[in-house]
Amino acid sequence: MGDHSQYIESLPLFVSGTLDDAQRRALENHLTHCSACRSEVALWRQVAYQVADANRNLDAPSIAVERALAEIRGRRKNIVWRAFELVRAQVPLVRGEMWPSSAAVMAIGVIIATIVKEVTILQMLAPMVAAASVAVIYGPENDPALELTLATATSPWKILLARLTIVFGYNLVLALAASGGMLLFLPANLVASLIVGWFGPMTFLCAAALVLALWVNTGNAIAVTYVAWLAQFLPGQEIATDFRLGGMSLFIAFLNAYRQFWSSPPVLVALAVGLVVIAGWLGGRQGQRLTRAA
Ligand SMILES: [Zn+2]
Repeated sequence: MGDHSQYIESLPLFVSGTLDDAQRRALENHLTHCSACRSEVALWRQVAYQVADANRNLDAPSIAVERALAEIRGRRKNIVWRAFELVRAQVPLVRGEMWPSSAAVMAIGVIIATIVKEVTILQMLAPMVAAASVAVIYGPENDPALELTLATATSPWKILLARLTIVFGYNLVLALAASGGMLLFLPANLVASLIVGWFGPMTFLCAAALVLALWVNTGNAIAVTYVAWLAQFLPGQEIATDFRLGGMSLFIAFLNAYRQFWSSPPVLVALAVGLVVIAGWLGGRQGQRLTRAA
């Protein structure tokens, strides 16, 4: 049995494969008739396997990277989802009359444009309908529940942006549908230029109406944006003649430049983005005032 205790010590070396041939053969011989050593060998093999397994997990950085990427992807999806949830939550808080009134005015526009065969009516109408809808999305005068909304953890500018998305998006869909209806009378390329004709002004006029509504008030916001938009349709030549304007050519040159401004979509959209940023800031400030007063 003296043999046995001597072998016991060499069992880990046997399992790790570091015994020389003579020692290994002697131990293998001993194992054939010693069940205690056989079970000891089984134990050491299990330990060796677990150590190897642990090492495999340690040198697998790709798994860790994949897990991190999945987490980032999940978080990004959460941002989109949260934005969607925020917009959806604001839908019932948008003034209810906005939905049918915008649709009704656009429908009347389509009917008149069809009767008089003059699609510029739609081009003139679409930005005005949208601007009026946007001017009433925010502020204590338009939303008695605003204080309650602001009491939630959501920042005021996010609420403002969510409502702008809803109202602008709805009016955009209406105007697209109205323009699409013109396909019955007009070739597709003219309908496309009709859409280009109102899209830039609609974007700019909505942003301007929002800033003015937050800065001054809703009524003035609508009045100022309407006058600014309609001024370009003034019959320049007739006015200059009727009023015997001395600087007649200067007046017409100014009016032409003004019309040019309203027919430059990239300029209008870029200005609109700037105005929305300002609106977000104004909305945030107004929100702070309201919550402080409450
Ligand atoms: Zn033994």
